[in-house]
Amino acid sequence: MKIYNSLTKRVEDFKPNDGNKVSMYTCGPTVYHFAHIGNLRSYLMEDVLEKLLRYSGYDVKRVMNITDVGHLSSDADTGEDKMLKGAKREHKTVMEIAKFYTDAFFADCAKLNIKTPDVVEPATNCIDEFINMIKVLLEKGYAYVSGENVYFDTSKLDTYYVFGNQNEDELMVGVRDDVSEDTNKRNRNDFVLWFTKSKFEDQALKWDSPWGVGYPGWHIECSCISMKHLGEYMDIHCGGVDNMFPHHTNEIAQSESFTGHKWCNYWFHVHHLNDETGKMSKSKGEFLTVSLLESKGYDPLAYRLFALQSHYRKPLTFSYDALDQVASAYKKLKNKINNIPDDGSVDENVVKEWHDKFAETVGNDVNTAMGITLLYDVLKDGMNGSTKKAVIKDFDYVLGLNLIDENAEASNENADVDPELAAFVEDMIAKRKEAKKAKDFALADSIRDELLSKGVVIEDTREGVKWHLA
Ligand code: AMP
Ligand code: ZN
Repeated sequence: MKIYNSLTKRVEDFKPNDGNKVSMYTCGPTVYHFAHIGNLRSYLMEDVLEKLLRYSGYDVKRVMNITDVGHLSSDADTGEDKMLKGAKREHKTVMEIAKFYTDAFFADCAKLNIKTPDVVEPATNCIDEFINMIKVLLEKGYAYVSGENVYFDTSKLDTYYVFGNQNEDELMVGVRDDVSEDTNKRNRNDFVLWFTKSKFEDQALKWDSPWGVGYPGWHIECSCISMKHLGEYMDIHCGGVDNMFPHHTNEIAQSESFTGHKWCNYWFHVHHLNDETGKMSKSKGEFLTVSLLESKGYDPLAYRLFALQSHYRKPLTFSYDALDQVASAYKKLKNKINNIPDDGSVDENVVKEWHDKFAETVGNDVNTAMGITLLYDVLKDGMNGSTKKAVIKDFDYVLGLNLIDENAEASNENADVDPELAAFVEDMIAKRKEAKKAKDFALADSIRDELLSKGVVIEDTREGVKWHLA
């Protein structure tokens, strides 16, 4: 497998530290609000990477944190506390907010077929580990106490700008017009490890520490949580590109100063999903969530396909027009697949050949778009229907598009029907089902009549709705 490594800025052959085992860490969500579909693009592509590794035979252990404390509005140590902001907005406690949005996050992930990592650890579970790491950093001279907070001293490092691509704007992150610079810092890029004196006197969650009652900075959690579960060496660390600086840079600074050796070999960064006006955010414009897409009638997996069709290292612009096209292609694709006849025995050699081809093609720096192209190649190939379905099912382990619908409502009799019409019929059947659920029988009947006027007969059977041409 090959993967682009942000640390070396090259596509490299992937080699884990320990034989076949892969340790993988993902920066989890800050649970003060719903995730938007931009956040979910990152988690989705990280999910593909994990599944691709497993598909290629690796034994993966993946860990994710949940940020429920310490993340201020600016990624530097300034601005409002995100969790407090959420709690105030909804008149709830910080822990209630954290629980609600953690559950909402995993519910969204489930809808997008994003697997829950093997270990999920909230930051508030690991305060002792944070305190221990900070103690060691102080002992080793990498940290100092100033103004009753503990800071990491970036001047003690040989290299700080590890990703080497920070521009002036990013360096100015802590010194924007609306925030005053923290005068306790010795160097501009020093960052907080432990706050006891922040401007948030009403900070909800506080813990005792050798430096006084307070709470941890944001970056320390990922260093500690990853080491708690994966040890002092890691193969792949993931996140969105905005995490590169200062978050990942600071994680590396802390972790490597703590252990005295290199920490993580490969850094996988997913580029942003933008809306047509620019970067997607939770405070600006329409707040694009999975639920919003559903309420507009989209299958969340159409969004998954939308994400898979572009490369994770390119920014992607979201528009409803683009999603409409993908949603219609997705319906046609599923319909086509579910009309493939089970017409013989599965040729396992053929399945293996395609498996290897898929692993190599998509394994070339997570080229999901080429994976989709391969899927269409399989559809056109002359192999028998049963083998075809087995190959598609095998690809779908990574693609996660529920391509083989075990309870397909479409009947095999309709294999020759124009895919556009078939997709329309499926859509109408789904709408009719919704109408019946809502006890709107008049609408359900009118949908049946409309289909009939187009020469399509539907029948309610015990196995679901079946249809055929009149
Ligand atoms: P947060 O909940 O703000 O900590 O962000 C969760 C994840 O989403 C992080 O890995 C971010 O890098 C990533 N992220 C934030 N905005 C976007 C975006 N517009 N597109 C893709 N990923 C994003
Ligand atoms: Zn992190």
